[in-house]
Amino acid sequence: MTKDPIPGLMARIRQRRLREQLFHLAKDPLPYRKLNYTIPGHEKNTLYEADDFIAAQLEASGYPVEREGVQVQAFRCDTSKPKASQFAPPAEDDPWYTAYNLYAKKTGTTQPDEIVVVMAHKDSQSWVDSPGAYDNAVGTVGSMEIARVLSEYAARRSIWFLYCNEEHTPWTSVTAAEKARARGDKIIAVFNLDSMGGKSQADIDAGRKTNVALYTEPEGKRLAELMCQVNEEYDIGLIQSTARRKQPGDDDGSFVKAGFPAAVMNVGSYPYADPNYHRETDVPEAVDLENLQMAVQASLAAIVRVDQEG
Ligand SMILES: [Zn+2]
Repeated sequence: MTKDPIPGLMARIRQRRLREQLFHLAKDPLPYRKLNYTIPGHEKNTLYEADDFIAAQLEASGYPVEREGVQVQAFRCDTSKPKASQFAPPAEDDPWYTAYNLYAKKTGTTQPDEIVVVMAHKDSQSWVDSPGAYDNAVGTVGSMEIARVLSEYAARRSIWFLYCNEEHTPWTSVTAAEKARARGDKIIAVFNLDSMGGKSQADIDAGRKTNVALYTEPEGKRLAELMCQVNEEYDIGLIQSTARRKQPGDDDGSFVKAGFPAAVMNVGSYPYADPNYHRETDVPEAVDLENLQMAVQASLAAIVRVDQEG
């Protein structure tokens, strides 16, 4: 019986790295991550600049990075709607852009055909000038940190890190999931990391460290329960709960709809209660880094458990 690698791996998740990368992607030098905003004097839009940063970090951790282009448009803004839901369909002749899914793939040593997908949308809101710190720079940097820590871990199964786009339309996770289905990929688990640590003002004031594992299908429920199990077993200290979606949603929903039901989303609250959601005030200074670190550690533990036990 070999020693459980999970405690040692969890201990390598660095809050300082999460913080530095979060500020890089949601404040300085990148105020946003969207195809329709370029910093004056720069050649590339801010989402492409974010892609380059994310790819460079993954390459520094030893992963080759693949890009998959998808045609998308920016959302329009409907100010007659409530602030959190002001995204509106683009007009037909609004500009089209190529948004990229980024993949960093780790190949399994014993069951390489079985794939665990760890995903996060990396873009910020295309219809409003929000830095998108909780939504979803946190999931992006959390996934990058998990990739870094797992770079020296000999995974049995394959682990794919996917960085997609959900704040432009259509969502690029749909293409990723449909191509996986067309190839016949054997995806055994999907962990979508989105807005981890984002919670209500009452939870912020009380200092609660929360995480909700959202699932749609029974296969996802098993993964959601695993989140609770690792939180207990490794004494992570999250107030960890599970909730069932009425229908597939967000980027994990793209995989559920494509025929991969073992999918969860790790999110700070449900219904999502961050008072800064989809606002200009979704800034990195408001992120509860300790909560983020704990949610990243719990995600890492569950990912490794699935790798080891299937
Ligand atoms: Zn989001």
